[in-house]
Amino acid sequence: MAGILLPACAVFFSGLLCTIYFSKQRVNLLENKMYSIMMISILIDSILVTILQAFPAGGVSNIELAFVPLINKIDFIFLIAFCNCLFFYTMLITIPKFKEKFKLYLIPFCLLDIITIILIMFTPINVINEDIHYSVGGIAVYLVYILCLSYILLSIIVVLSNLKKVDKRHVPIFSIIFILILLFILFEINPYLIIISIALTFVNYIMYFTIENPDLNHIKELNLAKDQAEKANRAKTEFLSNMSHEIRTPLNAIVGFSECMLDSNDLKETKEYASDIVDASKQLLEIVNGILDISKIEANKVEIIPKNYNPREVFDGLKKLVLPRIKEKPIKFKMIFSPDLPGVLKGDVSKVKQIILNILTNATKYTDKGEIIFNVNCINRLDTKECLMYISVKDTGRGIKKEKLETIFGKFERVDEEKNTTVEGTGLGLAITKGLVDLMGGRITVFSKYGEGSTFRVYLEQEIVSMEIPKMEENEEEEINYIDYSGKKILIVDDSKINLKVAQTLMKSYNFEIDTATNGEEAIEKTNNKKYDLIFMDIMMPKMNGVETLEKLREKEDFTTPVIALTADAIEGTDEKYLSVGFNSYLSKPIDRKLLNKVINKYLGGK
Ligand code: ADP
Repeated sequence: MAGILLPACAVFFSGLLCTIYFSKQRVNLLENKMYSIMMISILIDSILVTILQAFPAGGVSNIELAFVPLINKIDFIFLIAFCNCLFFYTMLITIPKFKEKFKLYLIPFCLLDIITIILIMFTPINVINEDIHYSVGGIAVYLVYILCLSYILLSIIVVLSNLKKVDKRHVPIFSIIFILILLFILFEINPYLIIISIALTFVNYIMYFTIENPDLNHIKELNLAKDQAEKANRAKTEFLSNMSHEIRTPLNAIVGFSECMLDSNDLKETKEYASDIVDASKQLLEIVNGILDISKIEANKVEIIPKNYNPREVFDGLKKLVLPRIKEKPIKFKMIFSPDLPGVLKGDVSKVKQIILNILTNATKYTDKGEIIFNVNCINRLDTKECLMYISVKDTGRGIKKEKLETIFGKFERVDEEKNTTVEGTGLGLAITKGLVDLMGGRITVFSKYGEGSTFRVYLEQEIVSMEIPKMEENEEEEINYIDYSGKKILIVDDSKINLKVAQTLMKSYNFEIDTATNGEEAIEKTNNKKYDLIFMDIMMPKMNGVETLEKLREKEDFTTPVIALTADAIEGTDEKYLSVGFNSYLSKPIDRKLLNKVINKYLGGK
């Protein structure tokens, strides 16, 4: 009777544990799955061992019935499953990266289990029966021993070789492994000691109360989520304080100089204030565009739009844009083109420009004296029409500390802040640059020596269209020649009165007859009474937005007036989007006078 007591207790306690565990909500982790299998295995093992022990306990003499070895063999399957899962469990909690390779390991180990189980099924098992004692021996039993002990030994090796990485919470699992070894030795000494089931139930209990408790796992998950939320919140606060500082600086100039303008009666002085306001506004626009760019990149909303371009012309244009930034600083600017740079390339030229402009701008910002060398090299593969451009910008500026080189490509990362206080910047430039380079399948590297200078290199692959250098297009005139369009009728639709005033003022020099409307309905009404030559339409308007208004206008049979979208929606603002809904063209706010002039001339028949 003594033999049945321990397995019967094991059935009771394992059953209880399973009921509690499976009735609770669990976190869906691989470890939990392993633990579930371990619990079920031991419950079944306890039931089978209890059944087997019932024979001698019930005084059945002939226990060598055919099904007794069979029940034993089935029991072995569950013992193997337990030890295998314990091994995987140990791997999962000690080696975090094991999760990714789990499936790779699962197959060979399962195969090993299956082969051993098949061998067990075909090898003999000896039932040892002495009075009321019952036990088993034979090759099958030794096979189970070997496999289970191997799993336990493997687990010990894994633990010992990763001791430093072990989470304190997981320490009990290691004591469990040693208990198991002791158990096997004990069982070998005295095969009538039916303690395996109860000992393994005990192991499951230790694990439940120390590691596997679903409540503990939930708390762990909640803590993780809390940490992530706090981190995101901190980043948001940092972002807001960063932005508010960056935005306030040019705003301060705009408000301050505007007030000075109001007080000033001197035309020259007023013009100077106005010029400072324009500079500060451009800086503000740069910041807003930076934020939009990074959000677009992070939201995967940036598309590659390939166009043909002349790289020499493009890079020459960039040089002209950055030179004024050097101002009176004693810096020599050198631009070197490789002679085999193709004449016409195909690629997303606006992104190429943005990438190089950011790097060149930084070079001018963070260099006080010396030189900046802008070098464009390439490797051409004429058979596949591929051109690998490698563009480097080398400066003799303040340089970047070695340990900071990794961080500069992060969002809002500005290094050497003490020195940078005099240099404007948001820390977004290089994050955007890297985002764009990655998107184009390129690479960006930086070499820098603190106090001596830096070299940024960008590698971009572009398609070769032609090796011949086309004639450079003449530069657009800097000054706008306003054509007199008196007699032409223009309608500007915008719900913001101040925006209407800005647009009206910008168009004053053309001598149009300008009408305004503050909503879509008013615009439709006005077009019913008058035929306009050109309409500028804001997109975001209450009740009826610009797109809906345009749809209504286009429904009219005799409506042929070109309609230009005016939009501040720079995130989605692509030409295609507005052209596809029926606008003839689009201008983004703040309105660029040169672009406005181009649009006006295009649709009103100027040059
Ligand atoms: P920022 O708007 O501050 O210029 P960036 O993302 O463009 O932001 O650059 C991140 C930081 O990297 C800068 O604040 C600056 O400290 C450093 N950095 C970038 N380019 C250079 C350079 N050419 N020389 C020295 N430091 C640089």
